[in-house]
Amino acid sequence: MRNKAYWIRHSHILRRDEYECSACGETTEKPRKICPHCGSTMKGVQGDAGWVDEMETIDAWFDD
Ligand SMILES: [Zn+2]
Repeated sequence: MRNKAYWIRHSHILRRDEYECSACGETTEKPRKICPHCGSTMKGVQGDAGWVDEMETIDAWFDD
């Protein structure tokens, strides 16, 4: 069974943004549709400005 979770964006000035899994706390430099650590299905990204709820945005970042 897969959990539903989301990425919490942490902005940094001197290095790249990090995205933290809301379910397991794993951090990654690039948001993915599924957390590589716990396997949760990610429904979006929550950043400083609120929700980024367009999964197409993640599709664009998910380029590998
Ligand atoms: Zn996770």
